Amino acid sequence: MTDLTALTLDEARQGLAKGDFTALELTEAHLAAMEAAAALNAYVLDTPDRARAMARESDARRKRGEAGRLEGIPLGVKDLFATEGTRTTACSRILGDFVPPYESTVTRQLWQQGAVMLGKLNNDEFAMGSSNETSAFGPVVNPFLPPNWDAAKARAALAADRKGLLVPGGSSGGSAAAVAANLCLGATATDTGGSIRQPAAFTGTVGIKPTYGRCSRWGIVAFASSLDQAGPIAKTVRDAAALLTAMAGHDPKDSTSVDLPVPDFEAALGRSVAGKVIGIPREYRVEGMPAEIEALWRKGAEMLKAAGARIVDVSLPHTKYALPAYYIVAPAEASSNLARYDGVRYGLRVKGRDIVEMYEKTRAAGFGREVKRRILIGTYVLSAGYYDAYYLRAQKIRTLIKRDFETVYAEGVDAILTPATPSAAFGIAEKAEADPVEMYLNDIFTVTVNMAGLPGLALPGGTDPSGLPLGLQLIGRPFDEETLFSLAGVIEDQAGRVRAPRWWA
Ligand code: GLN
Repeated sequence: MTDLTALTLDEARQGLAKGDFTALELTEAHLAAMEAAAALNAYVLDTPDRARAMARESDARRKRGEAGRLEGIPLGVKDLFATEGTRTTACSRILGDFVPPYESTVTRQLWQQGAVMLGKLNNDEFAMGSSNETSAFGPVVNPFLPPNWDAAKARAALAADRKGLLVPGGSSGGSAAAVAANLCLGATATDTGGSIRQPAAFTGTVGIKPTYGRCSRWGIVAFASSLDQAGPIAKTVRDAAALLTAMAGHDPKDSTSVDLPVPDFEAALGRSVAGKVIGIPREYRVEGMPAEIEALWRKGAEMLKAAGARIVDVSLPHTKYALPAYYIVAPAEASSNLARYDGVRYGLRVKGRDIVEMYEKTRAAGFGREVKRRILIGTYVLSAGYYDAYYLRAQKIRTLIKRDFETVYAEGVDAILTPATPSAAFGIAEKAEADPVEMYLNDIFTVTVNMAGLPGLALPGGTDPSGLPLGLQLIGRPFDEETLFSLAGVIEDQAGRVRAPRWWA
């Protein structure tokens, strides 16, 4: 039998429907692959018993003729999504062994469509990071090999301290690595400033952050509530569309989720893009951008042009303020959201002489360095005297960034094309130990989209000279994810997929 883990979600769906294999066989193949790839550290918890039980139920449903849209499809779940009866930690020590008594809306909808949960995926602690190195469970390894490395060298590094191997990006690094390494057919992820799109770009996978309000945030550990959105990471554009169709939808339990019908996003694939107007924002041509990123961007525009789209230059003048404004707004909201981790309600508690000392000791032991840095920045910019100077000003900039996009869309632009990241994947420990601002610069092309609440899709557009995947980003009008899928399909048809080598076992 062929390797079932090498299938795309769509191929697996067809194989299941034809009876070529069962959901249980498909699940077993993935559980075995996960075990063999444990050293990549993509999963922080395997849930084989739950996976097998769900797969058996799925096979039974199919026999009864009750197959859902994702019937029997094994998925990984970012550890930011609460899963009922299964440990959920946000990859922070402070949540300890927290087992939620409830299921997030997004994952519940996936299970309702017949999907199978394989386990919980690694991420940066509370989704704060761009390399998956802030996780309490340690870094995730990108399945792509560093330039000029062979399998033997990589296996030796994996057995030692992982140094020199590449990061998968973050914060959804486990999701992206697991999809790229064939350890699931798709994964849930979240994106506050780029955490779906940047890891997708680093691993040759496809990720979409839908419009703010498209997916319910209920049951997802909050980072910055006005920016957080759930979305899928998948092997192909079609797979991402299938997953988003199941994940999206109005939820009365999240007052910011929008009551709009969810289109069948897969139907947008193959739709003509002739006449679509694609904006190329000049402000994204940042100083010091590697030539290969510039070339990728040009190639992406040519691919869309070849399919009949019209390419126009546009200006988003407030782009340069997006990163500093994001790093005020996001920590401000995080400092407030994370106030709930106090040793009383969830997870870790470190005893103290009185309640104040208990809070202090618990938070000191429970949060990692990056999370503490964000809480400090966040409380500072919200404090009396600094609120007007920092937080209010950042909110004003946010409005201007949103207006930049509105202006461009009002001029008839249908979508915007940019690189997804300023570079290919970098090495583990290469940036984490340097200046944190160096790491924040990774989000330069992605944060504007969250600030404006728009949909953004990242997909592989090609590789750098050493074969590492490079990602393109398509930014759409609010609630027009369909156009992004149509355009992404056109790029994927021409650029093809970028597959990771299998060297770890
Ligand atoms: N890298 C960004 C940050 O650390 C974005 C993270 C995210 O999207 N969750 O804030």
